[in-house]
Amino acid sequence: MSATFLHLTVSRNVAGSSAPRIGVLALQGDVREHSGVLRELGCEVVEIRLPAHLEGIDGLVIPGGESSVMDKLSRIFGLAEPLRDAIAQGLPVLGTCAGLIMVANHIEDAIAGQENFGGLDVTVRRNAFGAQVDSFETAVSIEGVTGPALQVAFIRAPEVIAVGPGARVIATLGDGRVVGVAGGNIIGVAFHPEITGEDRVHRMFLDVVAQRALQQPTTVDA
Ligand code: GLN
Repeated sequence: MSATFLHLTVSRNVAGSSAPRIGVLALQGDVREHSGVLRELGCEVVEIRLPAHLEGIDGLVIPGGESSVMDKLSRIFGLAEPLRDAIAQGLPVLGTCAGLIMVANHIEDAIAGQENFGGLDVTVRRNAFGAQVDSFETAVSIEGVTGPALQVAFIRAPEVIAVGPGARVIATLGDGRVVGVAGGNIIGVAFHPEITGEDRVHRMFLDVVAQRALQQPTTVDA
């Protein structure tokens, strides 16, 4: 391709402004699926493995996977502390499944010594829906998401068992179990929206990112 066309590939989001720069915590879990959805939505995606990668991001997605492993790796790579600080300072975060566990202020049924980043005023219980073989797909409605219910997957999912004054419920199952919460600039869902061709949770998250950018144009300094 001739250099003349290079300027055409500069990414722009729907509104025509610069693409949001979104980090995906890439220590473990379904990083590729989240990155794919975000790129489809016009984001610049940065895989986060080291503290320096946090520089300049407008938001962070923490994928599903295994929270106890993400915890260990984030401490080994020196990411836990800077991430905890950035989230406490208002970095927008979307946490899905294990990602929700990573941002919950309290964890039930954690493994011995398990830590996380915190930031969301909720308590989650790990593996509340059973083992891998008990995985299921179902339709869920989320507050603020229009259109038909979302088709999503639950894989060794956590359940939100307590919601403090700093957070609110945005999704429940038919039996009343809480599977989606939001508070401050954080959205947490117990399920995987990224493996069933769904992008509306990511769009909702990008709205939070855009709001934050309006309030505070500066981004994370690593
Ligand atoms: N049970 C896993 C954990 O505790 C989460 C499973 C998932 O992210 N699909 O981290």
